[in-house]
Amino acid sequence: MLSTTEAIEAVLAATTASTTETVAADESTGRVLRQIIRAERDQPPFDRVTMDGIAFAWADYESGQRNFPVQGMQAAGDEVMTLRDGQCIEIMTGAALPENANCIVPVERIAVVDGIAEIEPEYVVKKDRYIHPRGSDCAKGAHLLTPGKCVSPLDIAVIASCGETQVDVAKDPVIRVISTGNELVAAGRSIKAHQIRMSNGPALVSLLASHGYDHCEHDHIVDDIDALRERLAKHLGEAEVLVLSGGVSMGKADYVPAVLADLGVEVNFHKISQRPGKPMWFGVGPDGQLVFALPGNPVSALVCCRQYVIPALRKAAGMTETAPVFAALASNVSFKPALTCFQPVKLISGAAGQTLAIPVKTNTSGDFAALSATDGYVELPKDQTNFPAGTAVFLHRWIAR
Ligand code: AMP
Ligand code: MG
Repeated sequence: MLSTTEAIEAVLAATTASTTETVAADESTGRVLRQIIRAERDQPPFDRVTMDGIAFAWADYESGQRNFPVQGMQAAGDEVMTLRDGQCIEIMTGAALPENANCIVPVERIAVVDGIAEIEPEYVVKKDRYIHPRGSDCAKGAHLLTPGKCVSPLDIAVIASCGETQVDVAKDPVIRVISTGNELVAAGRSIKAHQIRMSNGPALVSLLASHGYDHCEHDHIVDDIDALRERLAKHLGEAEVLVLSGGVSMGKADYVPAVLADLGVEVNFHKISQRPGKPMWFGVGPDGQLVFALPGNPVSALVCCRQYVIPALRKAAGMTETAPVFAALASNVSFKPALTCFQPVKLISGAAGQTLAIPVKTNTSGDFAALSATDGYVELPKDQTNFPAGTAVFLHRWIAR
């Protein structure tokens, strides 16, 4: 049986890059960049005044002048004025520094009487103070954002500051989420005592959406070989990524692996030495479609989606890898079987600012209320049975892009 590391390596090895599309810059939040964003101009593009006040020449101040006739006013966005000898210009924050000026005194430190600005006697003027020099943040052409960056609201500011109206980003693959099982009944439909509410489909669609993949259609297929063959063939023809849940265990109605094989989906692995999610199946379709068949147990389905499907989608987009995140166990954990344990946790902050993970017990049948209180899960490596409080472990948040 594959280890969790071997399983993720196999998934990533089978994942190829998605195509590129061009989108409006203001609709690119959460998308993965496929181009370099370069500074359009020096930043700031001119010597920028950072205080409301007056601008004058240092040479005049140095020679003892303290009263300056006001030549005029220049606000942000005004054309640059040329300062005349011995005078000052009333200047506003964000304005370009007037020609010949190199000194700013804030408005709080002057008094203007009859058109003459007088500097407070005790105020010490410094040359170049309150001037944000041209190009001091970055030079024209500097690489500000690189391919692989997931566009954040802060990046939107960078893109806008470079004057870009469109950006090249990774095109999301077409993803289908498919619930299998005779017992499943969707919300809003009448349900009998022996039936189960279908929760995996909506939860997987939502988990994918929370990672930015927000156009995933959902289908429900009953445990019937012909129905599975017909519908899965259709989905394989239309989608690039299939995320199935249920029907991959050893039960007599678990037809999913056999039907997928029948449709030309080559099995890459079946079963991972982990809990939950041990029965997971993964294969590659005839046209390179990634087919993830997750166990039906709701905790397993969500963990497997977060652990294997999301990293594959990130790789397809060319997203820059993020550094692993750790948390410290808030209490002792013991785990018997020689499997990697993905333990759902609730996160709190410790007194020293560290992230503490409180293990939350979930019943195997899918204890939704308990799961809903968790922020993610921690990875407890196999071949170790006792994890004392304070042990640093890998943390995977449910929602993190
Ligand atoms: P399976 O992997 O098909 O054997 O399903 C394992 C368990 O998960 C069974 O108790 C199923 O009823 C349950 N299950 C399967 N699919 C879903 C689903 N979409 N929503 C909720 N429970 C499910
Ligand atoms: Mg089933």
